[in-house]
Amino acid sequence: MFPASRYSLQARRCIRALKAVQGEHVAPQAYTTSRCCSSAPVSRITTHYTVYPRDKDPRWEGMEMERFADEADVVIVGGGPAGLSAAIRLKQLANEHEKELRVCLVEKAAQIGAHTLSGACLEPSALNELFPDWKERGAPLNTPVTEDKFSILTEKYRIPIPILPGLPMNNHGNYIVRLGHFVRWLGEQAEELGVEIYPGYAAAEVLFHEDGSAKGIATNDVGIAKDGSPKDVFERGMELHAKVTLFGEGCHGHLAKQLYKHFNLRENCEPQTYAIGLKELWVIDEKKWRPGRVEHSVGWPLNRHTYGGSFLYHLNEGEPLVALGFVVGLDYTNPYLSPFREFQRWKHHPSVACTLEGGNRIAYGARALNEGGFQSLPKLTFPGGMLIGCSPGFMNVPKIKGTHTAMKSGMLAAEAIFKKITDDNLDSQTAGIHVPEYEENLKKSWIWKELYSVRNIRPSFHNYFGLYGGMIYTGIFYWIFRGKEPWTLKHAAWTQPS
Ligand SMILES: Cc1cc2nc3c(=O)[nH]c(=O)nc-3n(C[C@H](O)[C@H](O)[C@H](O)COP(=O)(O)OP(=O)(O)OC[C@H]3O[C@@H](n4cnc5c(N)ncnc54)[C@H](O)[C@@H]3O)c2cc1C
Repeated sequence: MFPASRYSLQARRCIRALKAVQGEHVAPQAYTTSRCCSSAPVSRITTHYTVYPRDKDPRWEGMEMERFADEADVVIVGGGPAGLSAAIRLKQLANEHEKELRVCLVEKAAQIGAHTLSGACLEPSALNELFPDWKERGAPLNTPVTEDKFSILTEKYRIPIPILPGLPMNNHGNYIVRLGHFVRWLGEQAEELGVEIYPGYAAAEVLFHEDGSAKGIATNDVGIAKDGSPKDVFERGMELHAKVTLFGEGCHGHLAKQLYKHFNLRENCEPQTYAIGLKELWVIDEKKWRPGRVEHSVGWPLNRHTYGGSFLYHLNEGEPLVALGFVVGLDYTNPYLSPFREFQRWKHHPSVACTLEGGNRIAYGARALNEGGFQSLPKLTFPGGMLIGCSPGFMNVPKIKGTHTAMKSGMLAAEAIFKKITDDNLDSQTAGIHVPEYEENLKKSWIWKELYSVRNIRPSFHNYFGLYGGMIYTGIFYWIFRGKEPWTLKHAAWTQPS
């Protein structure tokens, strides 16, 4: 430890050294100064040009910054269930009405489906509407749910809870899928219908017309060094302009955040709330494999005030596969809680470990989920664009399902856009076309009804009894009264009594 006087001298030297370096370089860099207390480089969290403008950075002087621009009717950001369903529906309608419609979709993953976490329980309602003949088309829905279990875990025991018809955890009629495979299949259908798909391209920036309406997107530049300077292989991204741009980036997309600000879309809703979901795919001992079985649990290792739970799905994909995962609401109050460690502990529960023993984990990943539901839905449309899928947050939280609602929102967006942009009498007041009909139609659809009916379940867990209070609330107001209670609870953080 330094004595106080020497420490402050050291600190002053550090500040002087940093100022000197900052004077030399305006651009973001990793700094090391021999006079600093620590020799570790101080690296920037980001070097992105939206944070550190390049026009003030001498390293970018003289670089060719012009972007090639292309025009489409509709541009879609994100090749997840929402974006692909929108693209498919647009081309289905265009083909039905024999209209020329150019639909381009950019996806940041190198292949469609590559950024999608595997292992999900799919409610096929939207798929039935999009492709009534999905079976003949070879959709990879190979595992109908045959067995459904829900339990409360204690440290050593599993207490089974009956799943009554109508409860959110009832999976009768659903399918266990490898979501990445399903999304890849949607991509193939979209391409067959004539959608132009560009995998490996991230939309990095929203472009605006002079009147403020959305004009399209610019894809990411490539060939930039970690310190934010251009490499020899630097290549500028390209611009994709459209009459309407659809944003289907999934939960917490960075372009959606720009749009929230630009169009003030979150003015009349509650803030979004989030959870983290960890997922793994295991090959297990064949003797323990029960294809079609779905298991959910709440309770241990989480305490009653931490929202979360587990899932374990037995897939039927030609080998003894199980998809398992753990979701933890990010409003937990214990600062020492680590969702990943809780997941690890859960895997050691006697009733889980016996399934995994002797098995091999072959894939894993983590992703954020929206938990705000109905109360946190922003305004969905603005001049030149709209939000679809988990980007605005159509996740049905108690069901842990958002694929069917994401798909349906994409389809509704497509139907509203098609009607508007093929209208010969269209008289748009802005250069980017505004399609408020999407939001109006969505409010009349089953998505709205579904999200409205479960709106109070997540916030009801914020009570003195936590999990148990929430379960009783769900039993009374969701199961008996179907979510028709005349009040809507707010998302409030649970605070421990002092
Ligand atoms: C742990 C966990 C378990 C789940 N379990 C289920 C379940 O059992 N059943 C169910 O129905 N749902 C489940 N879900 C939810 C489901 O995964 C989502 O609701 C669904 O994937 C939402 O679809 P989406 O198209 O809106 O977004 P996403 O599936 O997230 O797709 C968005 C796509 O956009 C791409 N993208 C993002 N930003 C950009 C950009 N700037 N440029 C280009 N591309 C971009 C991403 O790479 C991604 O491919 C689960 C989610 C989690 C996290």
